Amino acid sequence: MTTPTPEFHLRTVAETVASRSAAEPEFLQAVNEVLETLHPVLAEHPEFMEAGVLDRLVEPERQLIFRVPWTDDSGQVRVNRGYRVQFNSALGPYKGGLRFHPSVNLSVVKFLGFEQIFKNALTSQRIGGGKGGSDFDPSGKSDAEVMRFCQSFMMELVHHIGEDTDIPAGDIGVGAREIGYLFGQYRRITQRYESGVLTGKGVGWGGAEVRTEATGYGAVFFAEEMLARAGEGIAGRRAIVSGSGNVATYAIEKIQQLGGTPITASDSSGYIVDEAGIDVDLLKQVKEVERARISVYADRRPSARFVSGGSVWEVTGELAFPCATQNELDANHARSLVAGGLRAVAEGANMPTTPEAVEIFQQAGVLFAPGKAANAGGVATSALEMRQNAARSRWDRDTSESRLHDIMRDVHNSTYEASERYGRPGDYVLGANSAAFVTVAQAMLAQGVI
Ligand code: GLU
Repeated sequence: MTTPTPEFHLRTVAETVASRSAAEPEFLQAVNEVLETLHPVLAEHPEFMEAGVLDRLVEPERQLIFRVPWTDDSGQVRVNRGYRVQFNSALGPYKGGLRFHPSVNLSVVKFLGFEQIFKNALTSQRIGGGKGGSDFDPSGKSDAEVMRFCQSFMMELVHHIGEDTDIPAGDIGVGAREIGYLFGQYRRITQRYESGVLTGKGVGWGGAEVRTEATGYGAVFFAEEMLARAGEGIAGRRAIVSGSGNVATYAIEKIQQLGGTPITASDSSGYIVDEAGIDVDLLKQVKEVERARISVYADRRPSARFVSGGSVWEVTGELAFPCATQNELDANHARSLVAGGLRAVAEGANMPTTPEAVEIFQQAGVLFAPGKAANAGGVATSALEMRQNAARSRWDRDTSESRLHDIMRDVHNSTYEASERYGRPGDYVLGANSAAFVTVAQAMLAQGVI
C-alpha cells in the first residue's frame, strides 16, 4: 500500500463525507472546516493516513434516534424526536450536551458531536465526544410539561448512558431545571444514585461550583490570554455579546469584572443595546428567573433600547463574543465589524461564525478564537464535576474558578503553540484543530482499527 499525499487523502475523505451526508449541511461545514487545516499535520504524520484515522473520525461510532412521546397540560399527546450521537470515545467516555430546540436535527447533532471531540481533547480531561438533543421547544412550556418531556426522553436515553459510558449535560434549552428532571428519572429507573452520569447538576446535589458560569467565563479568559499575547487587554473596551443564556450572561459578567464594557445581549426576538453597560442582575432576572423576552430588559432600564428582529452584529465594538448559535455571524456582519474597529473575537457558542466571516476576520488581522478552544471551559468544568463525583468530594468556588482559569490558559497555550508548530502563528483555528486532532489520532492509532 502506498501512502497518499495529504492533499489526495483530505480530498478523498471530504468527498466520502459529502456523498454520505449530502443532506447534513451543518455537519459538512464542521467537517470541512477541520479538514481544511489538517494538511501540515498529515504531512508530518503519514501514519495517521495509513491507519485511516480521519476516515474513521468523521463517522460516528454510534447514532441513536428515538421517539419521545409526552402529554401536554391539556391532555394532548405530543411526539418529538430524540437524538444521541456517540461520536468518538478514543480519549474517554462520550461527553457532550443535550440541546432542546426546534432547529435540532441529525445534521445539527452531528456537527455538535464532531466539534465536541476536538474541544474535549483540548481540555486534556480524557473525555470523548458526543452530543444529543431533541426538536422539543421548552419555551412557552410549563414546568410540568418540561418535566414530562424530560422523563420520557430519559426512558430511552437511560439504555445508552452511564458514568463510564456517556455523560450528557446541558446546551441550548437544557439548563439546571432539565438536568434535574433527567437525573431524577435516571435515578428512579436504575435505582442507583450515579452522580457522574450527568453534569450541570445543582450544586446542592452533586453539581460543580462555577459550572453554570464556566463556558462564558472561560471564553473571556481565553480572549484575555489571546489579547495578552498581543500586549493588549479587555479593560476599557466595548464588547458586543450575542445571546442571553448562560454563556452570554456569564461572558458579560466576566468582561465587566475585567474592566470591559459589554453593551449588548440578544434572543430570538431581537437585541438590546445598553451604552451604560449591561446590568447583569437585571439580565439574569429577566432571562433566568422570569424566562421573559429580552425587550423586558429595555422596558426596565432607561439607558437601554430594544431592537426588534435584526442581528446584534449590526452593532460594532472592539471585542465580539458570539454566544447565541451556529452561523449567527456572517460575512456582511464581519465586514461591518472590521470597519467598526473590531480587534478580537472569541466564540462562546459552537460554530457561530460562518467560514466566510472567519476568513474576513483573519485577513483583517482580527484575533479569532474558535469555539472548540474558546468555549471549552464549560465541558472542562463538567469533567471537573465528574472528578468530584467520583471522589465524592466538593471543591469551593475559588478553587473551581481557578482550575477553570488554569485550564483555559493551557488551552490557549497549546492552541497557540500548535499554530506556530504547523506554520501559521496566531491562527487559532489551525492551532485548535491540529492540537486536538493529533491528541485524538494518537489515541486512535494506539487502540487499533476499531
Ligand atoms: N454543551 C456544552 C458544550 O458545547 C457543554 C457540554 C458538557 O458540559 O458536557 O461544550
